[in-house]
Amino acid sequence: ESRPTARAGTAKPPSPSTATLDYLQQPHHLLINGRRVEGKAGKTLATTDPAIGEVLAHVAIGDGADIDAAVAAARNAFNGPWRRLTHFERGRLLSRLARLIEANTDLFTELEVLDNGMPVGIARLTIANIAEMFDYYAGAAQRIEGSTTSPPRHITEHAEALTYTLREPVGVAGLIVPWNVPISTAVLKLAPALAAGCTAVIKPSEETPLSILLLGQLMDDAGFPPGVLNIVNGLGVDAGAALANHPDVDKISFTGSTATGRKVIQAATGNLKKVSLELGGKSPVVVMPDADPALAVPGVAMATFFLQGQNCMAGTRIFIHDSIYDALVEGLKAFADSMVIGHGLDPTTLVGPLISAAHRDKVMGYIERGIAEGATLITGGKALEGPGNFVQPTIFGDCTPDMAIVREEIFGPVMSIQRFATTDLDAIAAMANDTEYGLSGSVWTRNLSTAHALVSRIRAGHVSVNCHGAVGTNIPFGGYGQSGWGREFGQEGLDAYLETKAVTVQL
Ligand code: NAD
Repeated sequence: ESRPTARAGTAKPPSPSTATLDYLQQPHHLLINGRRVEGKAGKTLATTDPAIGEVLAHVAIGDGADIDAAVAAARNAFNGPWRRLTHFERGRLLSRLARLIEANTDLFTELEVLDNGMPVGIARLTIANIAEMFDYYAGAAQRIEGSTTSPPRHITEHAEALTYTLREPVGVAGLIVPWNVPISTAVLKLAPALAAGCTAVIKPSEETPLSILLLGQLMDDAGFPPGVLNIVNGLGVDAGAALANHPDVDKISFTGSTATGRKVIQAATGNLKKVSLELGGKSPVVVMPDADPALAVPGVAMATFFLQGQNCMAGTRIFIHDSIYDALVEGLKAFADSMVIGHGLDPTTLVGPLISAAHRDKVMGYIERGIAEGATLITGGKALEGPGNFVQPTIFGDCTPDMAIVREEIFGPVMSIQRFATTDLDAIAAMANDTEYGLSGSVWTRNLSTAHALVSRIRAGHVSVNCHGAVGTNIPFGGYGQSGWGREFGQEGLDAYLETKAVTVQL
């Protein structure tokens, strides 16, 4: 092919820096009670560069016995040194960690690109964001405060009294994270958990443990007491399930698929641990007749193709008004065809590889179903010759609400467009809400009234106007419907790791 996308999988990727190569050579262990240890069963798992299919490193993995040790270490730290620190002292440690992350930006960035495949520009932003998250929650830790209120009448009838509330940490938090933005998903849980005074056990995805292990090393350099953070790599069915089941874990925060989220809820019933869930999505993107095409074309394309579509917020159900359908689809096709597919370390890359060959095959299965179900393939639709798990940015037009490519989360670079003719906002919102999910969404229009009226009708935790997926450290994020329970980021993200204790003192 003569398209720029033909570079994928063939051009030699730029080499990582010597610091990154040295880091990859080190042993990659679990982190338990401040010590880097092998798993008790002595097993390892290879992690690969999905752009070239080569092994990056062999990483120690653990199972239930290692989770037991990690939870015990987290419990001891919770009852001991971590509990004795003031909010100010905890905040200072979080800030120190933020500075160490900044000092290691290049190493973090390259590890994230190599292990996950994401384009280097996105990885670099991600690392700036995690430093920002530790700074944000360092500040938030210092403003954790309770309140006073009226004591109950049955006490005040005969005595003076005082009633107030305390905000206390939930306890030991189990943090289970996916592979699509590994270090961010870990830190957006870890930073508020530590700020609240919890201790933690992270179970990284078996596909992408490397950047999270580096973070574990920096915790020690920053001066965190041992056991405050423990990291147990491993398979979901072993380490993940053991953590979700564990009777001495007080809270699980899980990000991943809706199917696994259901298992986590079931596992939590044993000790009724608290559960927060960030799950899948199939987010609507509504393009009204008066949308600005100069904004909408790149904006809608990136709503789907950002992170090669491996993005929970991805806007993949596109609704375009009949009056601008042809012009917009032509623009989207041109945009998709111009996207450079390649190794994430190449700064011109916009579309990196999918995480694994198995995932590529799953995405290709959806593309075949889209064709079989009668959607019009506008562009893309092919996997590139290996090595590497590349799929072309793919656009389907003339989709109908019942098609699998419209209903199911594909988690790949596949856009499904439906055409609509009405301008009735209730009818448009009903199309946008025709999904079991409710994570994100966007509305494209120049009319303020249309924008706000549609925003209020869309059932999702995060809706943008003339942009998509505009998330930030201070902005609450989470799902309606089967996209999850609870909110992360911002103050609500911190509240998820705090309990409220009401105290009455009879004087
Ligand atoms: P996944 O559900 O397969 O795995 C997520 C994590 O759970 C991994 O660490 C995995 O090892 C672990 N796990 C697997 N089985 C488990 C079990 N039985 N008990 C406990 N843990 C178990 O998801 P994935 O494929 O890694 O990630 C993709 C999914 O994540 C997509 O559905 C995507 O929408 C979702 N996601 C959601 C958000 C969000 O914020 N809502 C963000 C990113 C990804």
